[in-house]
Amino acid sequence: MDTAIVETTLLTFADDALGIVEDGAVGIDGDELAYVGPTDGFDPDDADEVVDGSGLVTLPGLVDAHVHSSHTLLRGAAQDLPEIEWMNRGLGPFAANATPADRIAGSRLGVLEALSAGATTIGEYATEVGDLVERVHRPLGARVVATETINEVREDRSDLGPRDVYEFDRERGERAFSRANELFKRFDDDPLITPMYGPQALDMVSPELLERVHEAAHERDARLHVHVAQGEREAIQIEERYGAGATTVSVLGDLGLLGPDLVAVHCHGTTPDERTRMVEAGVGMVGCPSSIGAIDGIVPPMAHYAGLGGTVALGTDQAPGPGHHDVFREMRTAALLSKTRSGDPTAMPSWEALRLATVGGARVLGLADRVGTLEVGKQADVVTVDRTVPSMVPTVDRPFHTVVPNLVHSATGREVRDVFVAGERVVEDGEFQPADPGEVVAEAQERATALFDRAADDWRAAGSALVDHVDAGRL
Ligand SMILES: [Zn+2]
Repeated sequence: MDTAIVETTLLTFADDALGIVEDGAVGIDGDELAYVGPTDGFDPDDADEVVDGSGLVTLPGLVDAHVHSSHTLLRGAAQDLPEIEWMNRGLGPFAANATPADRIAGSRLGVLEALSAGATTIGEYATEVGDLVERVHRPLGARVVATETINEVREDRSDLGPRDVYEFDRERGERAFSRANELFKRFDDDPLITPMYGPQALDMVSPELLERVHEAAHERDARLHVHVAQGEREAIQIEERYGAGATTVSVLGDLGLLGPDLVAVHCHGTTPDERTRMVEAGVGMVGCPSSIGAIDGIVPPMAHYAGLGGTVALGTDQAPGPGHHDVFREMRTAALLSKTRSGDPTAMPSWEALRLATVGGARVLGLADRVGTLEVGKQADVVTVDRTVPSMVPTVDRPFHTVVPNLVHSATGREVRDVFVAGERVVEDGEFQPADPGEVVAEAQERATALFDRAADDWRAAGSALVDHVDAGRL
């Protein structure tokens, strides 16, 4: 055995609750879990390394199910804006000035942040995602679900009115579809990399291409990762293209896409009846509450979806907006916003938020046979959290385990001590191992400073509401 963690508070998630073991132990052998259970009766003597877990809580690696990590270089670029301005006037001028090297630097920063805060699986969503995985996720040691963006709509649509139907650029779609197909050859049987197809959204892909993508996914037993019902702009496009009364969910249903192989991100434009239909069809949902809260002022329907019996994951989406790639913050945001939205403090309890970020994420991404719980034979994706630091103290075990609410409402992500991905210790006693974090941060800072400077005139010309705030000395 390579590593044993003993005398720890264990949350295994291996049953319908949290699988709490008070004086627990975990044994890691190669990339697998060789022991999960009480310390009593466990013999760690043959382990190369024994970690004293007495001040630690040990849980499955967290799943950040939906991430555009390269945008991390644009952290802080587009907050506090009207939704209509966020993409084109806020973020757009910076994104348009970003070089491929900038995107890599941003992605390294985002993945470093996510791993350091306990995420072991990252649902990356990008154009040319294979290169990003080779350059960033693999060297930094993350498990990744690599989704290639498939989009047939031209980037600049500023000449179109809201009811003008987008024209599809078939060649653009074909190129993206073949890049997605390539991913499956490139990462065939790679234990850490799971490719997925990413038709970006129903209004951005033609039904013809969508059907072919769906067929290819079916043949490969792969999932479709789609932004679903993202709001007004999409709803108008769907009505104009598919006829009065058509909605994203109704069209996905007509096309035969509502099923367990669909990963539906956001979903805030769905009706309660549509959610019932999605849950019945086995569609998994990803809620990104920090992102949708910051950009749209909307709470994703995570609590409702989970309440209907649906499977829900959490995602941090992208940094310019929500501001972070920290699943601990995302759990708290999910819980807090669900409570305030419903006016019900019992909504999204801490145990449920924890399940969303672990086993829920694994199920939605189709990885539940490998990760999301601590069970013998599963992949050794394990996180330990220091329960002795001020933000976690006091943590008591009588008359109940306050570590559960403390992990959701008090932890900030900085309490993470160890992160194992497939048995590799990516974070050891708080120190990131695969790269020098100082170097990753310095490069991101340098590149971002140059990029923001380069884009300054374009950003001012785009004239978002932030320009006035800058002129008034608020930014
Ligand atoms: Zn997204």
